[in-house]
Amino acid sequence: MLKNLPSAPNAILAMEWADYEPHFKKLQSIQLTPENVNEWLLGWSALADRLDEQYTRLYVATTQFTKDEEIEKRFNHFVESIQPLARAEDQKLKEKLLTSGLQPANFKMGLKKLRAEADIFNEANLGLLVEEQKLTAEYNRIQGSQTVLWEGEERTPSQMYALLFEKDRAMREKAWKAGTEVRLKNREAINGLWQKYMAVRLNIAENAGLPDYRSYMWAQRFRFDYSPEDCKTFHKGIEEIVVPAVKRIYEKRRQRLGLEALRPWDTEVDTSNASPLKPYETLDEFKSKSRDIFTKVDPKFGEYFQVMIDENLLDLDSRKHKAPGAYNLTYGVSKRPFIFMNNSGTHGDVATILHEGGHAFHAFEAGVVPYFHERSENFVPVEFAEVASIAMELLASPYIAKEHGGFYTEAEAARARLEHLEGRITFWPRMARVDAFQHWVYENPKDGSDPTACENQWSELTDRFIPSIDFSGLEDAKKTDWHRILHIHTIPFYFVEYGLAQLGAVQVWANALKDQQQAVAKYRRALTLGSTVSLPELFQAAGAKFSFDAQTLKTCVDLIESQMERLEQVKE
Ligand SMILES: [Zn+2]
Repeated sequence: MLKNLPSAPNAILAMEWADYEPHFKKLQSIQLTPENVNEWLLGWSALADRLDEQYTRLYVATTQFTKDEEIEKRFNHFVESIQPLARAEDQKLKEKLLTSGLQPANFKMGLKKLRAEADIFNEANLGLLVEEQKLTAEYNRIQGSQTVLWEGEERTPSQMYALLFEKDRAMREKAWKAGTEVRLKNREAINGLWQKYMAVRLNIAENAGLPDYRSYMWAQRFRFDYSPEDCKTFHKGIEEIVVPAVKRIYEKRRQRLGLEALRPWDTEVDTSNASPLKPYETLDEFKSKSRDIFTKVDPKFGEYFQVMIDENLLDLDSRKHKAPGAYNLTYGVSKRPFIFMNNSGTHGDVATILHEGGHAFHAFEAGVVPYFHERSENFVPVEFAEVASIAMELLASPYIAKEHGGFYTEAEAARARLEHLEGRITFWPRMARVDAFQHWVYENPKDGSDPTACENQWSELTDRFIPSIDFSGLEDAKKTDWHRILHIHTIPFYFVEYGLAQLGAVQVWANALKDQQQAVAKYRRALTLGSTVSLPELFQAAGAKFSFDAQTLKTCVDLIESQMERLEQVKE
């Protein structure tokens, strides 16, 4: 339908608005009929894929070379001079499709999402959304300015967090308290900001004609397949099943560390006397061993990873003028993923590559989906995207030992896997606390706008979900801990996705422990679906149940605990 759209990466990177505009106009001018609507959608997808790939390639470049002014200029040019115009034209195409009343074949989920976006769209909210972004910039500014003076040097919160792994308990305590003190200095500022956030958000919901802000976010996050009540069932199940399991894990930790009580600075340190894991010497070794591990999960994944090595789709080393963090992003036209990370030579690198590898293979597999609105990262539900990545961590875990082509001795591999499984279990209650807090806030907007009530609620939820850590004498720190959780402030309600995905991932792993080939075949099949079907259907295709209940949680927690017991013996 659209002629002469470029496909080579450099040609896409060179596109200007003048190259996009005629294609938008062409799509706008076509009279939609049941006969041509699917072809029209393919045209729209081709355009959306190019915009997405151009943005992604420029964004990736800015993270690879933070000091490169030319790259920054090109990125800003795209964001300022191409993206807003494209968004406006995109909105027109969306309206055109929806007002046509047509139901394109094989586009049910895509249409449902476009309609949900249109339903909550309101001109009057545009200003408020900008206002909200400004609050977020302010939140980020405050968080970013929180540095601790430690041994004469300025340290960031993540550098302070690293000190919680130190064997010296007095040092851990001092580091934890120093970090907390800095946070408490901004207590009033963050609480004040929170009141502003709440006012804006309540206003947004009202303009959208919805009874509360949660309903707005539910539509915005395309949560068609579960309700707030389901989330509460999930919280209860976690309280009933997972909290006691964490108690057992923390009790062992307390005994090993020889402590009277587990304090907030005692949860990260390694309890064994072994020295830190050192998985590899060179980056080439890291890549080839990672590939061999993926091959053990499924030869196809090994092939995909080799493509990423060959086509330079991995930027793994840490170097000056590179952004922090790790991610996987996808180029929509070439249907290729790209993995970015900052290696440190520790086990953290292995954990990251397995996780991001899962996302990357999802991108390869979902490449068969024809429409942008059912394939791109913005539309594939996080609840399932994270099944792809967390399941890969678990599926690959048996192969991180040397005898399977991996990095470690059997005992070392057992240590790494134990730490990983402990992290999976302790994550659920932490997640439930964040999610339950937000349900409370937006169900009780009056109290939810009152910082003191929020602080007390957070403290109560900490007692409910994290009872094994002794906070006595640290009440102010305990009450304000939610200040540092950026999701609550900047991406409301975005968190439960990870808890739900983890429940799906553990089920995929459970299947693999019985029959790996069959389990991985299902997992791969589910990855090919993109977002063409509902969440329960995606989970089902992967061999799992999309669920919130205590029974599913119990089956999964029992499995994790029994595997941990087995690994304890290998480790000794
Ligand atoms: Zn992820």
